[in-house]
Amino acid sequence: MLPHDPLPRVLYIDLTRRRYRIEERPDIFAAGLGGSGAGIRLLAEECPPGADPLGPDNPLIFTVGPLVGHFPLASKTVAMFKSPHTGNLGESHAGGRSAVAIRMAGYGAVVIQGQSKMPVYLVIAEGQVHFRDAAALWGLRSSYTAGSVLRQREGGSGLRSIMRIGRAGEKQVSYACVITETYRHFGRLGLGAVFGSKQLKAIVVSGKRSLAVADRRSYRNTYDQIYKAATETPVMKKYHELGTPVNVLPLNHIGALPTRNLQSGRFEGAETISGEHLAEEYLGRRVACAHCPVACVHLAALRLPYPDDPYFYKTVMLGYDHELIYAMGSMLGGSEVEGLLQALDQVEVLGLDVMSTGVVLAWATEALERGLISTQETGGLALAWGNYPVYIEAIKRIVTQPNDFYRALARGVEYASSVYGGQEYALAFGGNEMPGYHTGPGCHAGYLTGARHSHLDSAGYGLDQQVGQPGQTLTPEAVADKLLAEERWRQVLTSLVICLFARGIYTPEVVQNALAAVGIDRSVEDLARLGRETLRLKHAFKTREGFELGQLRLPHRIFETPAPAGKFDEDFMKQTIARYAENL
Ligand code: SF4
Repeated sequence: MLPHDPLPRVLYIDLTRRRYRIEERPDIFAAGLGGSGAGIRLLAEECPPGADPLGPDNPLIFTVGPLVGHFPLASKTVAMFKSPHTGNLGESHAGGRSAVAIRMAGYGAVVIQGQSKMPVYLVIAEGQVHFRDAAALWGLRSSYTAGSVLRQREGGSGLRSIMRIGRAGEKQVSYACVITETYRHFGRLGLGAVFGSKQLKAIVVSGKRSLAVADRRSYRNTYDQIYKAATETPVMKKYHELGTPVNVLPLNHIGALPTRNLQSGRFEGAETISGEHLAEEYLGRRVACAHCPVACVHLAALRLPYPDDPYFYKTVMLGYDHELIYAMGSMLGGSEVEGLLQALDQVEVLGLDVMSTGVVLAWATEALERGLISTQETGGLALAWGNYPVYIEAIKRIVTQPNDFYRALARGVEYASSVYGGQEYALAFGGNEMPGYHTGPGCHAGYLTGARHSHLDSAGYGLDQQVGQPGQTLTPEAVADKLLAEERWRQVLTSLVICLFARGIYTPEVVQNALAAVGIDRSVEDLARLGRETLRLKHAFKTREGFELGQLRLPHRIFETPAPAGKFDEDFMKQTIARYAENL
């Protein structure tokens, strides 16, 4: 690392005592590089065993990496915490401007401890931390309003990041998200609930520094190589043109698009909610994370009439991607685009994780259909596939929690089904609701074994599509080994906070060169070791908090609905998990 690099500086903020301090932690950044690698090491230090995820002992940790501010697509911030949703590792990544803002403010990590007695928001700027009264922001109907107020009240425009929660976070819904820059999110595993438990409404970070490089010529060469690959080759083209919704039609075509709580892998309304149709009819603009030339974030323009004023409309811009379309579209059997976008708007207003919300509502719809629950539990709402007005009301009730049923839904589908039944079609993996791929055993094994229970841990959906053609099969051992290898390498990428969409650009050799340009000497073998160690540390944290790979619940529905290459069984999945655990 170059002398005077601010990366090893860790900003510790104590919300209980309203104090802060800065510590140099070169040990953490030498061992973990940044992002996931530094984050898990700080989490293991700061989070006492058995800590209540919604108590003062659970730290909020934000980490960035050594390539942030230097190279394109090194754009994410990693958040680490104990998840109130699963009870073990909480790790969530967000794009936007937060990574650059934290680095330019002069830190590699921010650790927030304790619990405020009253609503507060933090301003981190110019070497100081300000604790500001957030009483007027607490309880606001919409997360958009909180964002607008903070934009007007605080400085640093153009350089700052604003991370905030909505009412879902305030109410500690276990899958509440944190919204950054309006269109990006720390979506999964309940970071928003941890903010809410600390009465922390928002964090505003800004800074303005310049960063040195080791050798200008080699830096320039590596930069150009990455930039050209991102802009002039086909590697990132699909992300710019249609974004991830480019996946909707191909997945539907092969029968891998989860539909109506995964009762099917094909959706008759797929054309209408496809990336192509949304781009043609609704695309308002594209935006990009800071320092990204790709701009994959697609925003739909939704015109909403004012209820009491004829010919008055407001236009809401809403981010949409494959997971959002799946969760509020095919999973809920809905293809009416304006209804789908309004449901997404409601989720955004309240600050929920869209994926968990969609899966929770899909389970509730099937449970009602099968008579497991009645309209007595739903408070009179006749949840039905594709009925968006009813779904929008149900989304509001997940946050207002008028009865025990909605209080259960606010804790996720694993919990709700443990109370009301229907676990065989409750689509949670390690406690986290499923993503939008039913491509075969690889994707489900990935959701089960991945440290975050996310499709982005090990890309099992990609593995299924590479080898899942009829006649081409993999043994459980081979699936486990490939998932493990992929997840280990992804620890390196997420330690450098590289956008995983750019994984085809940041090969081990490119990563090595990019690190050398900023004064960090790591061989390809060193990087491989970092990936292995970081993944082991994550699982060690999970195990410490009671998680056991061997005890995972397997939702029976995944074995009932044929995947593109046909059905697979529970034995296959158990053998895959056993092999993964053995080789971890
Ligand atoms: S490709 Fe998309 S998600 Fe990745 S950094 Fe660029 S805009 Fe952000």
